[in-house]
Amino acid sequence: MADRPVRKLAGGRLVVASHNEGKVREIGDLIAPYGLIAGPAADHGLPEPEETGATFEENASIKAQAAAQATGLPALADDSGLCVDALDGDPGIYAARWAGPQRDFFAAMEKVQDLLVAAGADTDELRSAHFVAVLCLAWPDGEEAFFRGEVGGTIVWPPRGDQGFGYDPFFRPHGYDTTFGEMSAEAKHGWSAEHGEPGLSHRARAFAKFAQACLDG
Ligand code: IMP
Repeated sequence: MADRPVRKLAGGRLVVASHNEGKVREIGDLIAPYGLIAGPAADHGLPEPEETGATFEENASIKAQAAAQATGLPALADDSGLCVDALDGDPGIYAARWAGPQRDFFAAMEKVQDLLVAAGADTDELRSAHFVAVLCLAWPDGEEAFFRGEVGGTIVWPPRGDQGFGYDPFFRPHGYDTTFGEMSAEAKHGWSAEHGEPGLSHRARAFAKFAQACLDG
């Protein structure tokens, strides 16, 4: 059976179904050139749903569906995380939880580093990891579509840079000397309004697929 074509967003309003300021800012940057009016979930007074899924896709769907149902608008959610190969993919979908209720990402990075040291992971190859982002676009009638992006790199210690958010300061993408924490937003996205080619971060790669399928511009 042929896949159904993905429904297009023809301008108008979109809810960014996230309470994470870093993600809302990055998704806002990526959406800006497309003329959509995108407001974060917090602007609609939406509570943060519990992420009870076992995969990035399930959690992205929970967030996007909750926002689309509550607002009657199409909603875009991102579920993302960092998967460290030597730790069997941890923290993965639990990346936010490893930072605890205080959202202490230095402590979360230290935990990853301690586990890597305990595992004897002392080369770039053994310290490999990838960021994953799954975007879910959900419509008020329940229809949904998914877009996945990944970027591979190496865990460095100590963390470097104060840009970005979360685990950015200790992740150096393959082919670069700098961590995501040392990159400008534009460099992290691989995005340039003039060149129109998003493509470095996991979120930008997922967004490129979303834009190609759902946006005109
Ligand atoms: P969730 O998708 O809300 O469950 O949270 C994912 C967590 O993964 C975030 O809180 C971040 O800590 C981490 N994460 C996801 N994307 C990035 C990124 O681009 N940079 C740094 N950390 C990220």
